[in-house]
Amino acid sequence: MTGLCLASCGTKPQTAADGTDAFNYVVDQFADVQILRYRVPDFETLSLQQKLLVYYLNQAAVEGRDILYDQNGKHNLCIRRTLEAVYENYEGDRSSADFKALETYLKQVWMGNGIHHHYSMDKFVPAFSQAFFAEAVQGIDPAKLPLAEGETAEALVQKLTPVIFDPAVMPKRVNQAAGQDLIATSACNYYEGVTQREVEQFYNKMKDPADATPVPYGLNSKLVKRNGQVQERTYKVGGLYSPAIERIVGWLEKASTVAENDQQRKVIDTLIDYYRTGNLETYNEYSIEWVKDLASQVDFVNGFTETYGDPLGLKGSWESIVNFKNVEATKRTEIISSNAQWFENHSPVAPEFRKEEVKGVSAKVITAAMLGGDCYPSTPIGINLPNSNWIRHDYGSKSVTIENITEAYNQAAAGSGFNEEFMWSNTERQRSKQYATLTDNLHTDLHECLGHGSGKLLPGVDPDALKAYGSTIEEARADLFGLYFVGDPKLVELGLLPDMEAYKAQYYQYIMNGLMTQLTRIQPGKDIEESHMRNRQLIAAWAYEHGKADKVIELAERDGKHYVVVNDYERLRDLFGQLLAEIQRVKSTGDWQGAHDLVETYAVKVDPALHTEVLARYEKLHLTPYKGFVNPVYSLMKDDQGNVTDVTVSYDEDYVTQHLRYSKEFSTLPTYNE
Ligand code: ZN
Repeated sequence: MTGLCLASCGTKPQTAADGTDAFNYVVDQFADVQILRYRVPDFETLSLQQKLLVYYLNQAAVEGRDILYDQNGKHNLCIRRTLEAVYENYEGDRSSADFKALETYLKQVWMGNGIHHHYSMDKFVPAFSQAFFAEAVQGIDPAKLPLAEGETAEALVQKLTPVIFDPAVMPKRVNQAAGQDLIATSACNYYEGVTQREVEQFYNKMKDPADATPVPYGLNSKLVKRNGQVQERTYKVGGLYSPAIERIVGWLEKASTVAENDQQRKVIDTLIDYYRTGNLETYNEYSIEWVKDLASQVDFVNGFTETYGDPLGLKGSWESIVNFKNVEATKRTEIISSNAQWFENHSPVAPEFRKEEVKGVSAKVITAAMLGGDCYPSTPIGINLPNSNWIRHDYGSKSVTIENITEAYNQAAAGSGFNEEFMWSNTERQRSKQYATLTDNLHTDLHECLGHGSGKLLPGVDPDALKAYGSTIEEARADLFGLYFVGDPKLVELGLLPDMEAYKAQYYQYIMNGLMTQLTRIQPGKDIEESHMRNRQLIAAWAYEHGKADKVIELAERDGKHYVVVNDYERLRDLFGQLLAEIQRVKSTGDWQGAHDLVETYAVKVDPALHTEVLARYEKLHLTPYKGFVNPVYSLMKDDQGNVTDVTVSYDEDYVTQHLRYSKEFSTLPTYNE
């Protein structure tokens, strides 16, 4: 899968930006999360019509919040509403350890859009007692609780207690452990009463191998068994999640009236049509129109898009991001995309797997204006859509780097002590300081603009052939494309890098992260599950292993601590090229066994001793491995006649206030959705 792929690249605190900024980036901190704000520079330079367009799309971006909670787990809305009711109405001791722990847990639930960690997918472990939970819930006015018809507060507590407290109940949102029924062992709410085998049979029957323009089967529905029959419950107006989708459509209708041009209006109207009908052919039409809209400055994603939340990679989680083009920074990516064919022709993959003609690689740098659904509070720093292989092939794709989010990460990470702790010497630290922001952005550009769009499947190869390994292999492919070319003299020639030292900052950072420092995000004793983390370890561990004889990369020890040392950057680039060729072969030929061997050998298992060491060193820095965001608040300014004269943006809303407000203003779904 491609898509919003650099999700949670908060694992890059090594990019230290210098200097302080009066803007207060850090909003909140709890558990393993730090909440940041992001600025929306140049919003005021948009026209009033564009500002209104952004405003309406922003409203639509928040309306789908409840949908994601329900997709992530069937009890999530009930738990969130119960906890919020306690949080707002509890009259006992609010400074007690139990209440404080409940507050932290609620903040985690907001961060995860449910009771599972947004990244590890593991269920949160509450630090308050079951007795406290029961007493707190039963102590408030029952009218404030999300009770079903005839349900008592006591029954509510009984229903939720195992879901919250029992580690054996719904332990994982997405389970990808080979050999188990992935549906039965995943807590996500995309399936009910069906086995993995039944799901696979249901969708295999729909697939027509001769169809060159397939729809993304199953993307916008829940698959359930009713009266012995396996059937889809489609997300649409009049279908599943209708109350929220109706509101989204309402805002999109307003947005349509202030669209920048006819093409953009067509995009919005086609999306409305799709939300009304649930027809995936219409979704394909919408995707194609969306790719074609290159002239508009304001752009957005809104819908069931990425499939990381489904162990079988079929069902789209709801997400939205509203943005507008950063004209100055876009010049950088335009240089890259206008040279797309050169990069494809010089890629180290076998010629039969290259694209003869790279089409429509559009690239721009954007400013995010609003994050919603699966892009909030944790958010990607790059977008590459649509996901459909044939639409990408025939119409191209849109690829963006979200610079104001990256800026917030870097500003918040400045001066954290991370590089001092984990980098081998001052040489690496100096390089990082000088080049890391630049090469980070370039690697993201190359990954998004070119990496995902490069290469091709051989005729007749099923795009889903790699099954559960597909996401990891696809991300590795795009990352390797970026790594290989960030070290190419062509980038210096194009004026994108100042010299042939710069890429070393990216290489060092990548290997250090993949071999060591990303382990800060893994709990002791756990394997690596998330596909981006798997991809990064795959690349780093493969390069380490294959360069071992010549000591291309070493894990050196000093004072009982381990460090990554890269001895030969040119050889490392060769290794990236070799692995890219192999990964492209696996993808192009649909070699499931090859994908299995690469992922299981290099990407999953963790060295327990090194893991323990990294966690201990990291803990001493008092940093949090994950970042989330609060959105800005947009307000309509009106004159005496009620005409809108301006849209303003402010940054003063905190994390708790924002979520409680969203839960009041943008919460239309029933507590349980059938
Ligand atoms: Zn990606």
